[in-house]
Amino acid sequence: MPATVHDATALPSLLAEPALRNLPLMVLGAGSNVLFATDRFEGCLIQLQCASARIVSDDGEHALVRVDAGFDWDALVDWTLDHGLQGLENLALIPGQAGAAPIQNIGAYGVEVGKFIAAVHVCDSHTAAVDRLTAARCGFGYRDSVFKREPDRRIVTAIELRLPRSGATNLAYAGLSEELAAMGGLTPTPRNVAAAVRRIRRRKLPDPAVAGNAGSFFKNPVLARARAVELQSRFKGMPVFPASNDAEHKLSAAWLIEQAGWRGFSDGDAAVSAQHALVLVNLGRATGPQLLTLARRVAASVQEKFGVALEPEPRIVGATF
Ligand SMILES: Cc1cc2nc3c(=O)[nH]c(=O)nc-3n(C[C@H](O)[C@H](O)[C@H](O)COP(=O)(O)OP(=O)(O)OC[C@H]3O[C@@H](n4cnc5c(N)ncnc54)[C@H](O)[C@@H]3O)c2cc1C
Repeated sequence: MPATVHDATALPSLLAEPALRNLPLMVLGAGSNVLFATDRFEGCLIQLQCASARIVSDDGEHALVRVDAGFDWDALVDWTLDHGLQGLENLALIPGQAGAAPIQNIGAYGVEVGKFIAAVHVCDSHTAAVDRLTAARCGFGYRDSVFKREPDRRIVTAIELRLPRSGATNLAYAGLSEELAAMGGLTPTPRNVAAAVRRIRRRKLPDPAVAGNAGSFFKNPVLARARAVELQSRFKGMPVFPASNDAEHKLSAAWLIEQAGWRGFSDGDAAVSAQHALVLVNLGRATGPQLLTLARRVAASVQEKFGVALEPEPRIVGATF
């Protein structure tokens, strides 16, 4: 049963409806990070369509922006740039709604959204109580947050972002400077960085409008530093990146999958993208269970070859990984 919410203030009374009280609830954004492993969901799918954004306060250096959950994320990146605000440019072209951004703390090209989130407005699906969680209460980590750990408990109705009006853009990802150079030596303004990010993404990632996909299917594994260094000495060319703390390092899931020979593999219409080994694609009529079977095979072979466990990034509904 679908329930579309156009006004978040109506959510508490919707949750109190007797017809909903005993049903499992699932919050669905644009569906870009969900794999349905079942063709029946016996519950209520809640979708937020409220989609306005406004500047709440502005001291000339930073502005606080409040965005409804249903606002399209990539349109929001442009909205902030149009209002002279920066910070989100590295996150351009990530599909989905603004309300989903804090769920897995979306990140790309050296930036995570958690850095800019001042607060997340939620409605508790169990009690219908509304709350404003400051960033410290959101438990942001690599593709992680309190929201992801307890799916559907807190329905995100709006986010608040604190964005700067000036400052250097983040070019930590080496390919960005190269892209700006290839675009005619553009200066790294926020708008140019967003354009460069969009060009890289369009080139590297399969377009979900052409071949259904959820972006990266696996998280990059985070290992104890000593273990990562030991693996790197055993497997020539293995990329290792710093993690958020000194005790750990991150491996490239794409590299592991490619080395295990999966890039471009297909089983019927379920395939590992030939463009990017980290993306599983639906070439036409693959079912959720078929994609899940492929994902499990990929993870098992990476485990066997490297002794490293891969964890899926998208939410899998109706099955466990
Ligand atoms: C081509 C492609 C590229 C991608 N690139 C990236 C990337 O670079 N970085 C990255 O981090 N992600 C990436 N993703 C994943 C995806 O875009 C993000 O996770 C995005 O935030 C999902 O938004 P959505 O609205 O589609 O959420 P959905 O897929 O609908 O939902 C994702 C999860 O969030 C929950 N959820 C959604 N909205 C709410 C809400 N309002 N309140 C509570 N829970 C909610 C859902 O229940 C579900 O658990 C990519 C996906 C694709 C298809």
